[in-house]
Order: sequence, then C-alpha cells, then structure tokens
Amino acid sequence: MSMMIRSAAADLNGRQELFDEVVKYLNSSGYSPLLRDAQRGYIAAIAGQMAEHVDVRTGIDEYRIGQRLLASSRYRTSSDIPALMGEVFWLEEQHAILYLLLVTVPTRPSADRSTSRERPSLALQAGYIGDRDSAASLDQFKDAVSSALRASDSPITWTESEGTQLRLQSLTSSGAGHIPASQITVSELECAELLREPILRQLAIRLRQSGGILAHDLTAHMANLEVLLQHGLVSSETVVMCKHDGHQIVRLTQRETIDGLTTLGVKCSCGAPLAQEQIEEYYTANEMLRKLLDNSYWMNAVLVSALEETGVSRDNLILCVHEGPGEVDAFAEVCGALMMFEMKDNHFSMGHAYAFGGRIGVYKPNYAVIISTSGVDADVKQHFERVRPDAEMVYVSDLAELQLKIEEMVDMVRRLECMRILSAVDLVSQVRSPVSEMLALRLGIAVPAVHREVSVYYP
Ligand SMILES: [Zn+2]
Repeated sequence: MSMMIRSAAADLNGRQELFDEVVKYLNSSGYSPLLRDAQRGYIAAIAGQMAEHVDVRTGIDEYRIGQRLLASSRYRTSSDIPALMGEVFWLEEQHAILYLLLVTVPTRPSADRSTSRERPSLALQAGYIGDRDSAASLDQFKDAVSSALRASDSPITWTESEGTQLRLQSLTSSGAGHIPASQITVSELECAELLREPILRQLAIRLRQSGGILAHDLTAHMANLEVLLQHGLVSSETVVMCKHDGHQIVRLTQRETIDGLTTLGVKCSCGAPLAQEQIEEYYTANEMLRKLLDNSYWMNAVLVSALEETGVSRDNLILCVHEGPGEVDAFAEVCGALMMFEMKDNHFSMGHAYAFGGRIGVYKPNYAVIISTSGVDADVKQHFERVRPDAEMVYVSDLAELQLKIEEMVDMVRRLECMRILSAVDLVSQVRSPVSEMLALRLGIAVPAVHREVSVYYP
C-alpha cells in the first residue's frame, strides 16, 4: 500500500456543540461512526434496557481539556494533537479511514500577558488515511460535512495541506532567499528527466561549456544531439566559413537562405561564391539548458518530480535556499518533518561532508538527504556514523534509486503522522460513564449525588 494522508481544516467559529450534529448528519448520509456505535454497544452491554437513560459522557473531561489547551501552544513539539472530540469512519471498500476531529488551533504564545488567557479557536479537521488511489474519498466526505453545517446555518471553508509548513514558513520568513518549487515549469521537469541520462547530460554540458560546437566535432553524437534539438534544449545555426583561411563569413538561422544569397551574387572576401564555401551546422545550448545545467538545477527538478510522484505537493518544497554564504539545494516539509537535500552531479566526498554537517547543525532537519549521480564516498558515511548528527541520514548514490529512497522516507514520515493522528482518537474515544453508575441505574438504585462525590475519598 502506498499510504497517503490528506487533511483539511475549517474554522468552526467556536461552535463546539455542532460537532455531534455533524456526526449525526454523516451517519444519515451513510458514514457509520465507529466510536459512537462502539460506545452505544458498550453501554448497552452493561446498562441493558436502561442504556438510553445513561448520561453518555465521552471524550476527555474538562480538567484534561484544560491541560490540552495549555499543551496546544506547544503543539509542534508535543507528539499529540489537541483534539477535544472526534469520530472515525471505516471505508470497507477502500480499506481506509476517514476521521473528523474537533481540534484547538494553536495560537502563538503572546508576550502580552493580557491576551495570554485568550481561548484558542476551534477548528474541524477532516482527514483521510489510506491508499493514495482512494484519497479522493476525502472530497465527498468534506462535502458531506459542509452540507451538515450549511443545514445548521454555519457554512465553513476548508483549507487543505499535507501537514503544516511551519518550518518552511519560518525559513522563508527569516529572509532566506529561495525559489518556490511551484515555479518549476512542466517543460523544465521534462527536460530534467532527459538530463538524468548520463550520455545526454555529458553532451549537454559539453555544449554549455564550449559555448557552441560545429557539426563535424559531433559526428559520434548525432543521435543524442537530435534528442536535445527535439526538446528545444539546443539551437542550431548554419555557419559559412572560407575554405581558404577558415574565417567565418556569415551565420544564418536557415540553411536555405544560402542559395538565395548566392543567386544574389553574395561572395566571400576571397571571391568564391557563398554556396561553394564550407557550410556547417553550429550547435549552442539554449537558455533553458543553461538554466538547468547551472548549479545542476536539473537535479532540483528531478527531486520535485520524485516528491510529486509520492503525492507530496510542490507547496511543501523550496529550492536553492541561501542565507549568507551557505546554500541548501532544497528543503521539503512533509507532515511536520523537515527534509534537507544536498545534490551533487558528481561523487559526494569528505570535502562536501564537512560543509553539509555544518548545515545540519544550523537547520536541524529531521532527515538529511545526500543525492549523488555517481556515488557517496564510504568515508562520508563513516564520518556521519561517527559524529551522529541529530538527523536521519539518507544516501542516494545513484539517481536510479532516488524514487525508492524518497518513497521510503516519505512513507516512514506518513506512518508516524498516521500514528500521531490516531493517538488523538485514543483520547476522544474514551467512555467516561462509570460502570458503577450504569449498573446502579439498571438495578434501579438511585444514589444521591452527594454520596457519589463522597465515595471519591473512600480509600
Ligand atoms: Zn572564401
């Protein structure tokens, strides 16, 4: 299974009491609430026919709500979601889960004490956990929740993202220069795919570095050159050179114009008609190829494709991040985990490792990923084993293994996020109607409230 988590949040404008109404509406629309069905079954098993008279209290009590509101300001560093209410729906056919949580939205800790007592606002969080292929199930589910709230005259607006991008936001808002991955164009992605092929890439680099090459120097590479021409990465011109002294007479964008010029009587300075001089094609790297090759930008594009392939949106990725003298090739944030990428169209050696280690210390990513086109030196891996940086090291020694390594990493992050979301369900699924009260109700014993409270102190 290729797991996917999708979630969307909507402000509930403080109307917590609407949650149960929404769940009732969903139940009538064919979404069976697992937790509420289970709670009813549990109460019925103990209270029997008196079940309908049991004061059903679920979720967490006020004391713990208070605790969680306090904890919510530390949301990103604590492992759980500050959920107050929740429900889970099992999709049998898709073998997936839809969930609906009422969560407290973390508010930034305020230095001003007068506002620090402000209640965090409440939001609905609708989500999907399951195979990527069925992730569209969330759309119908969101529509159903929206309908329920429209029926209650409380329309909502959803915003969707895979986790938060707080860490990317703090990087970009601190003034670090960067390129949003969303700026990469479709044709750049396509051409970057071509450049993954070493033979094409070597030819492209040769064209870029030389500034231009004549056809007779490329006779062994015509098939590859044709591929670059077809994708518009290389331009060709016709050059006419003097057969006597080799000087360039004229450059033309179209070879056919030579005949016309010859008919018009245009000649070389040596006196020979133009058509009788040496005529050759001349190939140059065009602007897009230069852009893709400079600083191996094509590798950034390849990374964008690899992450998109796993369902990570481009919004979760920034490229060429530079602060001061250092530059990081890319950062991605998936489900709150920060991934830092270093890419080399070469082998990755110790010289690179020291600088990269320094950047791990500065940015503290959860994953530090080295992507090389021709291997990562063994002493680099030994170095990081020895210094044990506070990040999971991922080595991609060959682009052929890039997709697999990225999928493994993203999958692990999503599994952890999945467990974090499900842990919120643990708390909101508790039934707080004590068995003693339910049995007393079934027996028909009415116990005055004061006695119940006293029993708390009974040893
Ligand atoms: Zn000439």
